[in-house]
Amino acid sequence: MLDIALNNGRLIDPAAGIDKTASIGFQNGRVKIISDLPLNGRQVFDVRGRIVCPGFIDVHGHIDGHRYGGQLDLLQGITTTIGGNCGFSPSHVDQFLEQQNQNGFVINQAELVGESATLREAVGIIDPYVPADDRSIELMSTIAREKLEKGAAGVSLGLDYAPGSCQKELLAMARLCAEYHRLLAVHTRMTTCFDLNSLYELLNLAQETGTRLLISHYVYQYHAGGVRPGLEIIRKAREAGLDVYLDSGMYVSWTTGVHTATYDERNLHDNEMRFEDMVVATGEYTGCRMTREIYEKIRASREESSVIYLEGAENDPQVWECLMPAYAMPSTDSMEYRPGEGHPQIAGSFPRYLRQMVREQGLLDWPEAIRKATILPAQTARIRERGSLQPGWKADAVVFDPQSIKDNARYPHLGRPDAVPGGIDCVFVNGRLAADHGQCTGETAGEVVFYTK
Ligand SMILES: [Zn+2]
Repeated sequence: MLDIALNNGRLIDPAAGIDKTASIGFQNGRVKIISDLPLNGRQVFDVRGRIVCPGFIDVHGHIDGHRYGGQLDLLQGITTTIGGNCGFSPSHVDQFLEQQNQNGFVINQAELVGESATLREAVGIIDPYVPADDRSIELMSTIAREKLEKGAAGVSLGLDYAPGSCQKELLAMARLCAEYHRLLAVHTRMTTCFDLNSLYELLNLAQETGTRLLISHYVYQYHAGGVRPGLEIIRKAREAGLDVYLDSGMYVSWTTGVHTATYDERNLHDNEMRFEDMVVATGEYTGCRMTREIYEKIRASREESSVIYLEGAENDPQVWECLMPAYAMPSTDSMEYRPGEGHPQIAGSFPRYLRQMVREQGLLDWPEAIRKATILPAQTARIRERGSLQPGWKADAVVFDPQSIKDNARYPHLGRPDAVPGGIDCVFVNGRLAADHGQCTGETAGEVVFYTK
């Protein structure tokens, strides 16, 4: 007997080349059968008029085991998230993975080792503006190697957060990723907002070591004039044989911690960043425009606050342009906040991607949009048995209404950043119903994606 049967939906599985009306059955956490006839099972859903596709895979998140963030991911159709991005990760990724595996989590998780903050801190580098010396590089490499041996998915860099990072340090990390066939995910180093050297710096790492590169939240880095020339640089690099991908979000305005180097006075000055373009995303000033007084107060506080930098128009076409190349995939950059706080990316990203790029603007068709959100990230991060609904693979799936799927999340000065999206009927994680019409069911069927050499 099947555990779950989803009958008569439009099954779209780009990896298998399927786009047809069909029924699909899950058993013991895996896809058991795809059939032209309706199936029987313990739980049967008639999903006529709905799209059934593999669960979305978010290659760029900061969920790192946080419950509410994980639930918001799930409610937007994400069944696997890759955490530990931008140089920030749990300090013991191996122990973290073990623990998550024991406790269970709402969605599946893979984890990168963060270098720019976490590893640097582990070897005693407190000042983000200083380069690592040879001894520190050696120590960091030893720790990173151990974590890769014990299942980390790769290494992440957040070069804006460690402006002092030197080439030798980055090359050491790139070499390790190449050796272990893991991902090097990089939030680039922007010295000014038009800085394309930041891309060449990365491509040089790929050239020297052969590592696979994932350029993180591309639109946030390059929207101030660099999107098109940057894409051209990446296109040429790929043509020359470099293994480069990018992920990008659905918004232009980005958010980060107020204590990071990004919000240091000197960076505000160098990049002409203005208080009136900042909105506080967490804490007692949530939804307030920044003032000198608030800035000084929250920077002095020990509590970490997130601040959104408002840029560009709400529907800046560059957002979609970044996602058009075949090697580009949608991502959230989501993290943990308290209810009512944060950036709309935490709840709106994937529904917004589908609503805008497929239904409203017709830039992608359903199979291509789904490919970029499922099998492309799975292959990029070398995640096996996910990203497709082939019999035998893990039963991570989303059922949604193509006519009504939409994001409801807003910036905190305009509404709720964590508003649940509409049009998503069900989300299945490892064959269990984890979200049902916008509500989490309480299942914690998520698994940890361990890597072995
Ligand atoms: Zn980042």
